[in-house]
Amino acid sequence: MKVMNPATGELIRDIAEDGAFAVRRKYDRARAASPSWAATPVAKRLVAIGGFREAVVARHETLACTLTREVGKPIVQSRNELNGLLKRIDFFLAEAARVLREEKVYADDKEKLEERISHEPLGVIANISAWNYPYFVGSNVFVPALLAGNTVLYKPSEFASLTGEQIAEMMHEAGVPQDAFIAVLGGGKTGAALLRQPVDGVFFTGSYATGAKIGAAAGRRMIKLQLELGGKDPVYVCDDADVEAAAASLADGAFYNTGQSCCSVERIYVDARIHDAFLAAFVAEVKGYKVGDPMNESTYIGAITRRAQLDVLRRQVADAKRKGAKLLTGGEVIERKGNWFQPTVFTEVDHRMALMRDESFGPIIGIQKVASDEEAVTLMNDTLYGLTAGVYTPDRKRARRILARVRAGSAYWNCCDRVSPRLPWSGVGHSGIGLTLSTYGIQTFTRTKAWHLRGA
Ligand code: NAD
Repeated sequence: MKVMNPATGELIRDIAEDGAFAVRRKYDRARAASPSWAATPVAKRLVAIGGFREAVVARHETLACTLTREVGKPIVQSRNELNGLLKRIDFFLAEAARVLREEKVYADDKEKLEERISHEPLGVIANISAWNYPYFVGSNVFVPALLAGNTVLYKPSEFASLTGEQIAEMMHEAGVPQDAFIAVLGGGKTGAALLRQPVDGVFFTGSYATGAKIGAAAGRRMIKLQLELGGKDPVYVCDDADVEAAAASLADGAFYNTGQSCCSVERIYVDARIHDAFLAAFVAEVKGYKVGDPMNESTYIGAITRRAQLDVLRRQVADAKRKGAKLLTGGEVIERKGNWFQPTVFTEVDHRMALMRDESFGPIIGIQKVASDEEAVTLMNDTLYGLTAGVYTPDRKRARRILARVRAGSAYWNCCDRVSPRLPWSGVGHSGIGLTLSTYGIQTFTRTKAWHLRGA
């Protein structure tokens, strides 16, 4: 398998892809290691994950450079991702012991009856991951899964394999047994081979198209299934919003990580009364973004990681133009080595356009004028997805009223493109099923067992 640098088109390394036989052997090792890792006290598992955290700190810059080279993410944003990872690990380290502790929920001395709940590991889990935030989306799964006593077969995206290898190395250095955390390297075929193993849970992060296939295959097996999928996240800017502040915040929400975030702002609705002022401020902001070498500290827009995505973006631009949208800036592939697309802003868009319906996953946004809160809510809900949604207004009650009616896993008031380790991360509709993060995102890696105990 060839690992390419999407910013230069150059080969970084050839790596061996795991075929069906290699995947089977890795599964067997993870299964054999399962009882002893499950029996390892939580305190010891916490020490091992603490060691992983230390390894990330020690190698911080090397890891950031590898990430930037293989996915084309601006170096400052790679560092930010690693800093965010440390905060997530800290959250899990602080909460895991309490969440995993067995609870006595009832006792009756006369009846000599006790009722308890324990949180057992699921067993061996498959963690199939995306490339856009490999440290975030990976660690949301493998950190709490390991803390809960599961062994993990971790398949990083084929576009983030080097990062995946480094994660496995650091886990093992930190004292997680070699067979309790195993990296499985390869693309879709390798992922499919992994899913053919009799694992006890599947935790997938990726596109709706792949998630739907995985859901269909796993559904019959009665195993734990989580799917964290894409989005078409809407934001509504009300008439009373601070226009300049909203424009700066939303441009960042739409273009950070070169628009390749599951919770990127993908649709903006603006009240007609402030529409033109908002547009001017938004476009000025976007024109200020520096596009270029991701290793350069001042770069804000990096490369498009998957070359095939350029076609999706091109098609959305052509479709929007054909249907009457007005292009305010960008709209073209940048002709240079690697995969590049200009930051692109459209207005006069509507929901007949793919730009306002299908996940773009790139540096492109449509801004639509609306006449009322009612119209905004209708448009925000006019999607198959439901990952996040936001409202910009100084009026908290108004924002709450609007957001209560929008179908989304996360609601944002005067912010966007934000993930907190303390809050559950989930989607509705085509954005997926299940959740990660928060204390619920630790419990999700356990089988909750009921104990009815009668006796002296
Ligand atoms: P993808 O669906 O192409 O691939 C995801 C993973 O699935 C990769 O590891 C890939 O190798 C594997 N895979 C592909 N086909 C498979 C098959 N048949 N069986 C098993 N595994 C298979 O997605 P991607 O391009 O890596 O990621 C981008 C998508 O992920 C976007 O839609 C984005 O919104 C979404 N995403 C969602 C979240 C979230 O938390 N909801 C986070 C990050 C990314």
